Order: sequence, then structure tokens, then C-alpha cells
Amino acid sequence: MDDLLGPPDEVVDAVVVGAGVAGMYMVHRLRGLGLSVQGFEAGSDVGGTWYWNRYPGARCDVLSVDYSYSFSGELQQEWDWSERYATQAEILAYLEHVADRYGLRRSFAFDTRVVAARLDEATLRWRVRTDTGRTLDARFFILATGSLSSASVPDIPGLDDFAGDWYHTGQWPHEGVDCAGRRIGVIGTGSSGIQSIPVLAEAAEHLFVFQRTPNYTVPARNRPLSDAERAEIKANYDDRRRRSRASGGGSVHEPYPKSALEVSEDERRAIYEEGWKAGGVLFAKTFPDQLTTLEANETARAFVAAKIRAVVKDQAVADLLVPNDHPIGTKRICTDSYYFETFNRDNVTLVDVRSAPIVAITPEGIRTTEADYALDTIVFATGFDAMTGSVLRIDIRGRGSVALADVWAGGPRTYLGLSISGFPNLFVMTGPGSPSVLANMILAAEHHADWITECIAYLKSIEALAIEATEKAQDDWVAYSNELAEQTLFPATNSWYVGANIPGKPRTFMPFIGGLGTYRTICAGIAERNYEGFRVVAAT
Ligand code: FAD
Ligand code: NAP
Repeated sequence: MDDLLGPPDEVVDAVVVGAGVAGMYMVHRLRGLGLSVQGFEAGSDVGGTWYWNRYPGARCDVLSVDYSYSFSGELQQEWDWSERYATQAEILAYLEHVADRYGLRRSFAFDTRVVAARLDEATLRWRVRTDTGRTLDARFFILATGSLSSASVPDIPGLDDFAGDWYHTGQWPHEGVDCAGRRIGVIGTGSSGIQSIPVLAEAAEHLFVFQRTPNYTVPARNRPLSDAERAEIKANYDDRRRRSRASGGGSVHEPYPKSALEVSEDERRAIYEEGWKAGGVLFAKTFPDQLTTLEANETARAFVAAKIRAVVKDQAVADLLVPNDHPIGTKRICTDSYYFETFNRDNVTLVDVRSAPIVAITPEGIRTTEADYALDTIVFATGFDAMTGSVLRIDIRGRGSVALADVWAGGPRTYLGLSISGFPNLFVMTGPGSPSVLANMILAAEHHADWITECIAYLKSIEALAIEATEKAQDDWVAYSNELAEQTLFPATNSWYVGANIPGKPRTFMPFIGGLGTYRTICAGIAERNYEGFRVVAAT
């Protein structure tokens, strides 16, 4: 590491890591401020999540008209979303359009991974190293590395000897995978598995779904958008965006005005039916107390269990598909197109690997404690080392050469999810401690890019050298975030929100659960009060 403090190859104002929605807009804003910016992206082009996750069935689960940039009225007006929930290909085409429109690619080096960064304490500047051997000196080091960008393949013995092909949904081959006539095994029934399983089943000779934990999923009710719908949305976009930014989750939604427990059974059923018919992830927030009161949540669980049983013909299979280990919505709720219907197909077998765990991958397929399944292809829909994985894959050292990995050894600690004490001039976008994965992430990323840009403009205006979260402000923020989380049903569930999917990962509820609107107000107040909770280091 020490050689990183030698003479750099290049000097810039800012390094931005990642060319997903966050990094792209960050670069755009910093260039607008007149800064010299170098972006790095491990992939070969822009898009982030939508560049990597090309598995069959991949779509957004926030309405396309909301899951898009809001910073430019012109951009909003010129782009036509074809469906309620756009495919991966359409979202990627949109992000490529944005990159073209704003000339963003010229600020990025692609196929380049940032591997290390070191604070020079004398200058409070960052030295950044890439895997292509470039060393940069930058005042600001901005991590737009993604919350769901470090694919996790479980350590199952024998994978190297598998004679067929295997893929992770988050690293899907660009040329696609020919599934026709193949015996395919999918491991995992989170959002990626649930989106891909119905599509894979259409093509496969036989599809084996290896399920460890059943999951809640709500029909997406995806369909094309009509010209009239698009025109109506475009005519009212500003108001829609204003309400989305002020909302809890970053899209327009009002829960039913009464508790699930104070209405009659008939009224409750009617409201759930309405939510089910509308489809989508907001079903998890039908009633205001659904995610805070177990009894209220139980009413939603029972409703969904009955829906699953009504669709799945074989009740022994339905028994396995009905989730029973967590309150509905406390893991990211999934949306689907004909997921439960897929288990009525003759060419689909549900394998319960909770009762009979996978013990090995053999050259021929997957072995559980009970049987061998012969396969041509294995699909790992096994998720990500979420929120911290991509940050910690970079060897980052701050004051006193302390490694971020050590600072976060007991779980991530940040101030506002944006800044880390001991790491001046380093910003994390949509990081742990911010609403991030609990919100429409494009609006969350835009907010962070705007806030960081204004912060840097402020530093420039007073000719300051650096800004750094104080330890006290960070401790208070972590305590406040935990306190809010404890008022909900989320922390008790074994989800990736708490790191439970990665063996050995410390258990902390990582996102800020107070809602995007509230969070934006807090961040604005802190900036207005001259960056309260931060230490601003003067140039001298
Ligand atoms: P990413 O898009 O993950 O981009 C980060 C980029 O950083 C990646 O391209 C990665 O290669 C690069 N990178 C990381 N580390 C390095 C390094 N060291 N050096 C160089 N490059 C690096 N969110 C929603 O709000 N709504 C949705 O409907 C939705 N659907 C999703 C569907 C899928 C399949 C997945 C996986 C996630 C989905 N999400 C959704 C979350 C999604 O990740 C965010 O919405 C958003 O795309 C994240 O953008 P980002 O720029 O923060 O990160
Ligand atoms: P995930 O939600 O973490 O699901 C991973 C699945 O793999 C789980 O079912 C898990 O089972 C299973 N699994 C992991 N290791 C296993 C093992 N060793 N043996 C058997 N099963 C194993 O990951 P994801 O589906 O990729 O989704 C991650 C997040 O990305 C989502 O929550 C969402 O935020 C986002 N996403 C969104 C969409 C969308 O609809 N727009 C689509 C995809 C992803 P356990 O539950 O038992 O651990």
C-alpha cells in the first residue's frame, strides 16, 4: 500500500467508482461544477445492475415511470417506457441513452476495477489504484459501487467439477444462454429466482427449483403502457416526482388510512384484494401497521397464503411454497409474472433443500441429502453480499492507515450513509445508513449526488480542504437508525438487509428505515446548518 503514496500518474478533483445510475449522475453533476472527474467501472459499459443482470425475466419492480431519472424534465419527456415494469434490456437502453445524451462515457474508464485507496493525511487527498495499474491523486473519492453488485455464489463442494454450465443471475452472459431442451437447476427463490423461474420453465426440458426458504411474491400485473397513460403521466410528472421524493419509498403511495386491526374482516379482505389486483411491491405497505405489528402482518400473510394455495394445484407443493419463517415484507418482497402457476407445469419440480440440504455439486448435477438431480445447467439466483460487499472489496485506508474493513468489522457505521468518520472527502452513495435499498433507488441516488455536489460546492466556496463526519455524529446516526429499525419487524428476519445471507457477516440492519422523504429533510437541515456533525478542515 505504501507505494500508493508515491508520485501519482494523474491528478484529478474526483474519482467516482461505478457507472450505474448513481455513478453516471454523480459524474454529470461534478462536471457541471467544473471539476475534473475520472470514473472507473469494472464492466465494459454503463448501466451497473442493468448491465450485469441479464437473466431471463429481469425487470424492475418499481414502476418504470418512477424508476427513472427525475433531474431533467426534457429527459423525462423524451423517453417512452413501453411497459409498467420495463425489462432489463429496456432499462439498459435507457441508461445508454442517458450516457449518450450527456456524453458520460468519456469520463469513465471501463473494464477497470478500483482495488485500493489510501488517504494522504498530509494533504487529505486520496490515492486511488486500479487493477490496470493506474494511480490517481484525487481530492474526493466517491463510491457509487452499488448495494447489490457483489454476486454471491455459495461455497458448495464440487462446483469446479460440474460438467455442465453454471451462471449467477447477477453475472449473466451477454450473449444469453440457450436453455432449450436443457435440464436446468435454479438455486434460490429471491427476486432474481422468482423472476427467472417462469421464463426458464418455458424453455427448459425440465426445471428443478432448489428452494431453501419460500418467499412472498405478489403478481406484478405487468402490461404495456398506453399512449394515453404515458401522456397523462408526462403531463403531471413534476407533481408525481415531488410526491415521490417526499414519500417513504420513493414512489407515490398512500397506505390505507386505518390500521389492519381496526377494520372489519370484510373491509380488510376487500383492501387486500384491491392491492393484490393492483399488484407489485407496495402490497407490503397496504396497511400502515403491516410492517410494525406482528398481528397486522399476520393478516397479510394469511391472505397471501390463501392466494398461493388457490393457484398451486398440488397442495403438498403449496405447503412448501407458503412462506412461514418471516413476516411478509421484512425480506424484500418479490413481484412475479406467473410464478406460482409455474409449479403446476409437468416440467417443473420443486426441491425442498431445507429438509434435504444440498451437500455437493457432482459432475452430473446437484446432490442433496436425499437424491441426485442430473442437470445440464445450474443457475445461481443466490443473491449478493449486499450494501457493504463492493465497498469492502476495495482496500480502503483512512486516517492512521486504518482499514475500512476493520472499522466496519462489527457492521457498517456511517453518518447519513454518506460519510465515514476517519475517511475525510470519501462519500458513499446509497450506502448503509441511508434509505438506499428501501427506496426507489434512482431517486435515492439522485438525492445523494445532489447533496454531495452541493457539499463540494460549499467546500469550494469557503476554500476548505476537506469534510469529515465526526465520530459523535456517526455514533448518533447509527443509534438513531437502529432505534427506528427496532420499532419495525425488519431486524428479526434473516434477510440480506441484516447480512444473514453471507456466512460470517456481522448482523446489523443496514439501511435507514425512516423513509426517503424524512431522510431528505434531515440531510437538507444538516447542510443548512453548515454541515452539522461534520468537521470542515480549512485550507491552512
Ligand atoms: P449499480 O447499478 O450496482 O452499479 C455499481 C457499479 O459499480 C457496477 O457496475 C459495478 O461493476 C461497479 N463497481 C463496483 N465496484 C467497483 C470497483 N471496485 N471498481 C470499478 N467498478 C466497480 N432498485 C429499485 O429501486 N427498483 C428496482 O426495480 C430494482 N430492480 C433491481 C433488479 C435487480 C436484478 C437488481 C440486482 C437490483 C435491482 N434494484 C432495484 C436495485 C439496483 O441495484 C438499483 O436500483 C440501482 O440500479 C443501483 O445503482 P448503483 O449505481 O447504485 O449501483
Ligand atoms: P436474494 O433475495 O438474496 O435471494 C437469494 C436466494 O438464494 C434465497 O432464496 C436464498 O435462500 C437462496 N440461497 C442462497 N444461498 C443458498 C444455498 N447455499 N442453498 C440454497 N439456497 C440458497 O437474492 P436475489 O434474488 O438476487 O435478490 C436480491 C435483491 O436484488 C432483491 O431483494 C431486490 O432488492 C433486488 N432484485 C430486484 C429485482 C426486481 O424484481 N426488480 C429482481 C432481482 C433482484 P435463503 O432465503 O434460505 O437464504
